[in-house]
Amino acid sequence: MRLLLVEDDPALGPQLRERFGREGFAVDLADNGIDACHLGATEPYDLVILDLGLPRKSGMDVLRQWRADGIAVPVLVLTARDAWHERVDGIKAGADDYLGKPFHIEELIVRAHALLRRGREARATELRVAGFVLDETRQCLIGDAGNAIPLTGTEFRLLRYFLHHPGEVLSKSRLTEHVYEYDADRDSNVIEVYVRRLREKLGNDVIRTRRGQGYVLEQGA
Ligand code: CA
Repeated sequence: MRLLLVEDDPALGPQLRERFGREGFAVDLADNGIDACHLGATEPYDLVILDLGLPRKSGMDVLRQWRADGIAVPVLVLTARDAWHERVDGIKAGADDYLGKPFHIEELIVRAHALLRRGREARATELRVAGFVLDETRQCLIGDAGNAIPLTGTEFRLLRYFLHHPGEVLSKSRLTEHVYEYDADRDSNVIEVYVRRLREKLGNDVIRTRRGQGYVLEQGA
């Protein structure tokens, strides 16, 4: 899952980036409204956390611009404490959730996961594959007997992305975009290595290769 984190506070921004990284997100951090607006319009994020008080362009203007351009990514806005009008304006501008500052990071993480889940609940309640359930808090696979199979951070992010898009042909470059940060060395050949490792854990039939196109997670696998 790729997360765009927009926060100009020089302490809070990096702190949140590190924490969400540990939660299995590939995080890009923007510290002003202009960069945020551009990144959100050009990179395929799965979730945005947007501070409203930003230099160069306000968070509210950034959000309005995205929605006017048809960018439907879930957005959680961070508002000033007691600024009820910011919360109202944020929702009107197209925010999906809000959290007032100061906040506990744990609450932000829970709300971020809830927002992602909301989008998924229309399709399924659990991420299941090949007789396993993907445990998103422990970042591992749980078998029917309750046995846990560990996943590395990249394996987890890749498998979660496949499970959000079953039956779709996913190119190596698209998978790379969703699994790594903007600045990361995006070598799409690495995806082959991680797909092979997932097959070793899940069986060979779960992720199929489409020559010249990419990979497909078998529906109902
Ligand atoms: Ca701010």
